[in-house]
Amino acid sequence: DDSFDEECDYLFKAVLIGDSAVGKSNLLSRFARDEFRLDSKPTIGVEFAYRNIKVGDKLIKAQIWDTAGQERFRAITSSYYRGALGAMLVYDITRRATFDNLKKWLEELRHFGDSDIVIVVVGNKFDLEQKREVSEEEGRKFAEKELVCFIETSAMENFNVEEAFLQMITQIHKITS
Ligand code: GDP
Ligand code: MG
Repeated sequence: DDSFDEECDYLFKAVLIGDSAVGKSNLLSRFARDEFRLDSKPTIGVEFAYRNIKVGDKLIKAQIWDTAGQERFRAITSSYYRGALGAMLVYDITRRATFDNLKKWLEELRHFGDSDIVIVVVGNKFDLEQKREVSEEEGRKFAEKELVCFIETSAMENFNVEEAFLQMITQIHKITS
């Protein structure tokens, strides 16, 4: 509610990007509400979620934006990126094409996003080790080359999800304070 909002020290906007069905919406629902859905319902309606996080002695309200399925049509516009201090660039470790497309997503991010936007590359579906097509090493090397952070997650098993968002949020906090 409003009285609680006033106690927040900062409001950060961050965006989720990446190919369709890599798990963006489930990463967000896991982080914001600790929920996971097995069926693949494209995001409809909800365009962002909030969570309040303590970093040091500051209370940060993280507003995380999710594509409402527009990524299928590559129809994400500049307004989606506007004002974003952070971006999570998500791929699916079991589908190499989603990893190969990171380059395109980074280009778009660097075109539309702020020049000092904090970027975290996230390799999701860590639980599907037997179907893995992209090694952790490859993911890490890509991130190193692009000078961005890297983490592997499982929205399904709630592995590293909190850590991924916290990495982004604490880095934004460092840059902006
Ligand atoms: P989005 O299109 O990027 O928002 O992807 P969704 O969050 O809708 O997820 C697409 C599909 O992948 C759904 O069937 C999810 O249940 C599934 N999924 C998402 N995250 C994981 C995960 O960490 N592990 C597994 N095994 N499946 C996942
Ligand atoms: Mg979605």
